[in-house]
Amino acid sequence: MKLMETELDADKKAAFYRDLVAAAGAENVTDNEVVRATYAFDISPNLPCLPEFVVKPKSVAQVQEILKTCDRYVVPVTPIAAGLNAAGTCIPSPGGIALDLRWMDNILEINTEAAYALVEPGVTFDKLSSALNKVGFRTHVPTAPGGASVMGNSLNGAGELPGRHADPILALEAVLPSGEIVRTGSAAVPGGSWQSPSGPYAGLTHLFCCFGTMGVVTKMAIRIYPILEDRRVLMVGFDAFSAAMPFANEVLRSGIAEASIVWNHHFYKSYDIAVKREGPPDMPTELSGDARKPPDYLPYNIVTVHMSGYRDDMDGHQKTCDVLAARFGGKLLDRQEWEDRIPGLFRATAQFFTEYHAPKMEHNKKYGMGKYIPWIIPSPAARLVGIEAMALDKMCDDLGAQPVFYYVKANDRGRSWVFRIFSYFDPDDRQLHQRVRETYNDMFKWALEKYNIAPTRHRRARGSVLDQLGGYGHLLKSIKQVVDPNNIMNPGVGIF
Ligand SMILES: Cc1cc2nc3c(=O)[nH]c(=O)nc-3n(C[C@H](O)[C@H](O)[C@H](O)COP(=O)(O)OP(=O)(O)OC[C@H]3O[C@@H](n4cnc5c(N)ncnc54)[C@H](O)[C@@H]3O)c2cc1C
Repeated sequence: MKLMETELDADKKAAFYRDLVAAAGAENVTDNEVVRATYAFDISPNLPCLPEFVVKPKSVAQVQEILKTCDRYVVPVTPIAAGLNAAGTCIPSPGGIALDLRWMDNILEINTEAAYALVEPGVTFDKLSSALNKVGFRTHVPTAPGGASVMGNSLNGAGELPGRHADPILALEAVLPSGEIVRTGSAAVPGGSWQSPSGPYAGLTHLFCCFGTMGVVTKMAIRIYPILEDRRVLMVGFDAFSAAMPFANEVLRSGIAEASIVWNHHFYKSYDIAVKREGPPDMPTELSGDARKPPDYLPYNIVTVHMSGYRDDMDGHQKTCDVLAARFGGKLLDRQEWEDRIPGLFRATAQFFTEYHAPKMEHNKKYGMGKYIPWIIPSPAARLVGIEAMALDKMCDDLGAQPVFYYVKANDRGRSWVFRIFSYFDPDDRQLHQRVRETYNDMFKWALEKYNIAPTRHRRARGSVLDQLGGYGHLLKSIKQVVDPNNIMNPGVGIF
């Protein structure tokens, strides 16, 4: 295994270790090679890097002392909530530590009156969903498996599937490299509560949505939602993306849907992949066709309309949805008629969105097909029509990828959307991975030049776009200089 170079010399390392143990407690620090090796890589194609130490704090006070120590020795710190990101952003830096926050996993408060939950970094969606379920509440639907942390997923590009809101975070607490504690939103006032992103003066919450480069977040308040009497997912078929998008926008804007997703036919048929214990999975035949040309009996796109409320209201919304579908050139799919054509999709959406509100492992079986390398971009609805066509052509023609999956998800009632396209590439074909990365970079360049859109999801390999962002880039770099003058916070992630 080729590793990145390490940079800590022996004397410095011994002194650093002494102080680190004083800061974190001996039982929370290890240099065991086997343990370190488990932190060196993730499922992305990035080069592995062994941390010098793995540190597992159990309190905010320990996090403060650890950061002060690392800052004094100028040792890189890579925070890890669950380490499940698929972008290399938790791979440690040469000579650095892996700061594993999984043992800080308390749900500090569930406030059903103000509809928020206050969590520590290690709280997973499974843990929070199960606690919330007992009091009739839920989180937004995560863009991650149930074992991912609520905090990591929310920090990771500010969440993607709240539908009603731009992001799930209300307020947070972070520790800076100096050891100072900062609280944001309504919690900025000493002794203040956690229910609002509005605090005195400028909002600072999203300063910390920067892949661990600004400090370590130790508490986060997120929005929670009551589980209402009736929850439904309607499916509407369309023969053109340019018709599906305005429909999805309309059901969000009118308040019929709390979330809406547009899926391409390879993706929604992928729910019918059957993974076997031995040999390759059974694939639906549709996945071997051109992603741009679905067979006659399948819609080009399916739009899922996620609704919940009182039963009578849902009945009314369903009728309106039927009318709107026809108005925009689509068709509400009758469950009885369609369940045998796409059984996996009906099963999955029920489990995801109406029963447990947490993804099941079954839904991740596609990951067995190869190396998952996604291209992700945020966009207003109107620009997505051009982006979809370009991205499909690049994936199908330039990369020869097959199958090709995409979905488009709304934030903030359709004001902004996230487009994600991907395939599963041969895990051993490094040259192909390189070609995929180069093609994706071309696609990002195209999106920036044609539509002035920059990616919000950071991938370690892609590097920083700050230099292309004018005054915003300068300001963020200046803030970083003040907050983290020694650049110890996750420098390997490649933003600063
Ligand atoms: C099977 C699978 C399916 C997935 N599906 C999707 C999908 O459909 N859509 C999608 O968008 N993503 C998907 N993902 C990616 C998913 O979003 C991430 O895996 C997950 O959100 C990361 O959460 P985590 O708790 O593991 O965070 P981590 O990987 O631990 O951290 C993510 C980033 O945040 C930083 N960080 C973590 N905690 C802190 C902290 N306390 N303070 C400061 N910085 C911190 C880390 O340094 C890192 O840069 C999938 C991943 C897997 C494994």
